[in-house]
Amino acid sequence: MKLILLGAPGAGKGTQSAKISEKWNIPAVSTGDMLRAAVKEGTEQGLSAKAYMDAGKLVPDEVVIGIIKEYLSSDKCKNGFILDGFPRSIPQAEALDAMGVKIDAVLSIEVEDEKIIERMSGRRICSSCGASYHVVYNPPKKADVCDACSSALYIRDDDAAETVIKRLNTYHEITEPLKGYYEKKGILVCAKGMEKVEDTTANVFEALEKVEA
Ligand code: AMP
Repeated sequence: MKLILLGAPGAGKGTQSAKISEKWNIPAVSTGDMLRAAVKEGTEQGLSAKAYMDAGKLVPDEVVIGIIKEYLSSDKCKNGFILDGFPRSIPQAEALDAMGVKIDAVLSIEVEDEKIIERMSGRRICSSCGASYHVVYNPPKKADVCDACSSALYIRDDDAAETVIKRLNTYHEITEPLKGYYEKKGILVCAKGMEKVEDTTANVFEALEKVEA
């Protein structure tokens, strides 16, 4: 299965992409994670991306398209993949089409803006493996420590309230039109994002099982 996950920042794309990856045994890639890794490593790409990310803006298309092109040409994507956070604009979707990549389904996780703002304030990320938690809805077993790798959890710079609002505006303006783009192609499916992770997962699996059938 070749899958794209759409949804506002904080809709739960990262969490659900890990669940889908496990169930369908396909790799998941997040352009946000790749960019954060580049920032951490201090590469030229990372340094130029950081200013955009901290301002709640999208990183220029050519940077992310380059990253994704390289990733999709790797062997591990042969039998399918999940793209979390790419494409995020119509030109990025057109670039993916131009690569000759045939997508089976585009899953949009739908959550209202007010819920997103509430959620982002509680989000915690693992500094080592990137796993995502929430202090109320998906807490780690031990406070501020990753269940998977025991590394410290941190709050992303771009989860600050004013940046979240900017990121939501960017989502509505630039990313949300992708729903129409993929609806026209007949491959858009939607799942309602719920308060509890497992309830969202149930909705996501139900939507994807219909695609498979
Ligand atoms: P995410 O982890 O998906 O929320 O991404 C964090 C930030 O990385 C975004 O707010 C953007 O600044 C940047 N980013 C991630 N994916 C893309 C993309 N496909 N196009 C442009 N910028 C991106």
